[in-house]
Order: sequence, then C-alpha cells, then structure tokens
Amino acid sequence: SSGGPVFAFDNSYARLPERFYARLDPTPVPAPRLLRLNEALARELGLEPEMLATPQAVDVLAGNRIALGSQPIALAYAGHQFGNFVPQLGDGRAILLGEVVDRLGVRRDIQLKGSGPTPFSRRGDGRAALGPVLREYIVSEAMAALGIPTTRSLAAVATGQPVMRETVLPGAVLTRVATSHIRVGTFQFFAARGDGEALRLLADHVIARHYPDARDEANPYRALFDRVIARQAELVARWMLVGFIHGVMNTDNCSIAGETIDYGPCAFMDTYKPDTVFSSIDHGGRYAYVNQPRICHWNLARFGETLLPLLDDDADRALAIANEVLATFQGRYGAALMAGMRRKLGLLTEEDGDGALAQELLDAMAEAQADFTKTFRALDPQSDDKVRPLFAEPARYDAWASRWRERLAREPQDADARRAAMQSVNPVYIPRNHRVEAVLAAAIEHDDYGPFEEFVAVLARPFEERAEFADYAEPAPTDQGGYRTFCGT
Ligand code: AMP
Ligand code: MG
Ligand code: MG
Repeated sequence: SSGGPVFAFDNSYARLPERFYARLDPTPVPAPRLLRLNEALARELGLEPEMLATPQAVDVLAGNRIALGSQPIALAYAGHQFGNFVPQLGDGRAILLGEVVDRLGVRRDIQLKGSGPTPFSRRGDGRAALGPVLREYIVSEAMAALGIPTTRSLAAVATGQPVMRETVLPGAVLTRVATSHIRVGTFQFFAARGDGEALRLLADHVIARHYPDARDEANPYRALFDRVIARQAELVARWMLVGFIHGVMNTDNCSIAGETIDYGPCAFMDTYKPDTVFSSIDHGGRYAYVNQPRICHWNLARFGETLLPLLDDDADRALAIANEVLATFQGRYGAALMAGMRRKLGLLTEEDGDGALAQELLDAMAEAQADFTKTFRALDPQSDDKVRPLFAEPARYDAWASRWRERLAREPQDADARRAAMQSVNPVYIPRNHRVEAVLAAAIEHDDYGPFEEFVAVLARPFEERAEFADYAEPAPTDQGGYRTFCGT
C-alpha cells in the first residue's frame, strides 16, 4: 500500500464556481518533521496510519508535495469580527487539500493550516506557530472525546521554518479535518456582493452535503436555516455544560455543519464565574462564557439575513419566515441545556423545578468560586465528602444538596445506575490551562513531546478516573484568575 495515493480525494467544493475560492498550492517548507499523527482518526478516515507516517505522506502534510487527486484551494468567506462586518476574510493561512469520504460514508475536509500565504492573507504571513498548532490539537481532540461536535486534528508537522511574531517562534502545520469548512461567513461573502446565484449554489451544496432531508421539505431553504439553528443551539449548550469558552465567536467561526471551529483563544473555565473571558483582545467581554448563547443567536440572525432572497420571492414573507425560524433558537438552546443539566445532576425524569434546582447549584458555585468540572464530577447522591471541600463556605451547598436528594427520591433509577450515568457525562479530565501551557513549554523549549503525548492520552478518555493521572484533574495550585489566551498566533 505504501506506493498508493495518500488520500482518496473527491472534491465537491472545487467543483463549485471559481469565485468560491482561489486555487493555489501550499508553500513548501525547509524541514518537515512529523510531530504527531492521530492514528484513531486516520483509521476513521479509512487510512492506514503507517502510510500517513511515510516521508512522502509527511511531505503532503507539510505542503511540500501535492497528493494525487488533491485540488488545493483557499476558501473565500466574509464575517462579522466582534460585531464589525468585514466583506472579505477567507482562508489566509489555510488550504483545503480536498475531501474524503470516511468509513461511515461522511464526507470530510482535509485542510492544512499554516501552509503559507494565499490571496486572502492580507497582512498575515500565512503561517502558524508550533504552540497554537499543538494547542488546537490538544483542545480539539479533547472536545471530540467529550462527545462535542468539532473539527479534528489529524497531524501536526514541524516546518523547520521560524515564524516572526512578537518573538521568533518555531513554525508548524496542522492537518485539520472538518465535516466542512463552510461558515456563516461564507454565505455573508456572497450576500454582501449581491450574488444571488452563488448564494443559491452554496445553499444547495450545503443541503446536499449536510442536510439532505431538507431537500424534501416544502421550502428547503427554510429547512436549511432550521437545521443549522438546531445544530448550533445544541453545540453551544454542549459548550456551556463543560465550561468551554470559545473566545472568538465571529460569524466566520460559526460552522454551518454545527462543529466547534477555530481553536485560537478558547479555554476551559476552572472556577465557575459566568462572566469569564480569557481572550486578550476581548476587552468588552462580548464572547464571555455567559454570553455564548446570545452571540450564537446573533450569528444565526446574520445567517438568516443571507438566506432572505432564497426564503421567498416576497421580501416581507421572507422576513417573516426567517424570524419565525430564528425564534426557535431560545427554546431549542434551553431544552438542550436543560437536558444536559438533568444528566449532570443524575435526573432521568423531568420536573418543573429542575431548572431552578440547577440554577441554585450554579449560584452556590459562583458564590464560592467552586471549580466547575470538579464540582459536577464530585456530586454524589450518597455522600458530600468530595464536594464540600470545593466550597469555601459550604452552607449554601448543603442547603442545595438536601433539595437535590428530595428530588432524587422521586427518581426511578437505582443508585449505582445513577452514579454510572452521572460519571458518563461529568468529565474528570479537561484540558486545564496550566497543563496546556506546561505541555507546550516542554515541546517548544525542550523538544520534549512526552508530556504532550501523555496529556493527549489522558484527554482521550475524559470520563474514566485513573489513579496515575489524578493530578490532571486538579486546577492550577495558585489560580489567580489571570489566564490569557491569544488568537492568530
Ligand atoms: P481567525 O481570527 O483565526 O478566525 O482569523 C481571522 C482571519 O485572519 C482569517 O481570514 C484568517 O485566515 C486570517 N489569519 C489569521 N492569522 C493569519 C496569518 N498568520 N496569516 C494570514 N492570515 C491569517
Ligand atoms: Mg477563524
Ligand atoms: Mg483562528
């Protein structure tokens, strides 16, 4: 098999009109070196990991060689960045190599990130530094293991070419796998140009690729809007349930397929503070933890605007349809969040007071600045021994816990089944910020990938407590709350 093609590409996006993208090859790098290959993901894609590790394949993953069947393109898109519309963004440092159909029959994009300048680079160099590449690898794969829809990381390759940032840093290329890279911003790109023909082609492409059942509806474009809202509402609820803060929820980072995309400034919250912001450029807290559902709704409103010409020939009717569909967001988000909260609290049945019960726990956690992940994991209907120490002043927790137990008494599930169910949704291990930083420092400063490999292995089984990895479950010993993240580095 070693002489065969690296990927069995079939490139539907490259068959769309030329104004959807720019055709260009990645820019070669001096010294490709495979740092990490995601063997499980390779198998999922129908590839043999050994084949992807050959020098020829590593050349493909570095952008030094064009694989058979690859039609490299940089995608055009626009987007609202922190609320300001930019009519042209596009893949400034990413190139789509092509699409493959995975073992389950799902079409997946294979994209290089950090593969050199494109016509969309503006003032950027088209490159990525090693730190952010490893960071995206760690966090995106952690999200996948948590069961949250996300782009994936197939490989990280060092380039041997430094990148100039505030300091000189080693460069790397990430191979990103996505259900597609089509964003709200892709629709905005054509809407801003009044290109109705392209909008319809794009919408039809998305329906065929991601939402084929929408084609059978009376109004397929209404159905498309409806499906995307459903996926995004579910996605953001999933983020909220694990304390994930995306950090840069611009419309160009809002995936039409409903995956988490763009792991620039994201981070997991340790102590529960709803207004937590990590991104160094998010001065107003627009993308704070608590704002994420509202921002998602705002982004979907922008998506709906682009669909107006497709929804109905009559502008008033189109607007009415868009608003009617958009209005479903809050209900769907609320339902997804509540369903997830019930699972986190061990509730199988539904009662009206469950929302208040969950909120009272969150309020107690906020007051005590309890660790989000540890608190949910430590909840135990039989014992408060593990939870109480997480609260500086546990009186409020104690009051809540007695209400929780009254509620659990009306549940049909037996204690063992409940504990197992709770442990299957409340993770032990998340990519804690101080751990991410330590792993990156070892790799970047000492070329030591042992900590990275171990961390990735721990995060691959987030719900399974393992004594030898107990430290990974702990927050930073001296969390001053000042953790900062950066995008585009
Ligand atoms: P992001 O903040 O990652 O969503 O990126 C916003 C825009 O900036 C996208 O069009 C990126 O392709 C572009 N961009 C980010 N970093 C670079 C870079 N180093 N070189 C060129 N373009 C970049
Ligand atoms: Mg982006
Ligand atoms: Mg980014």
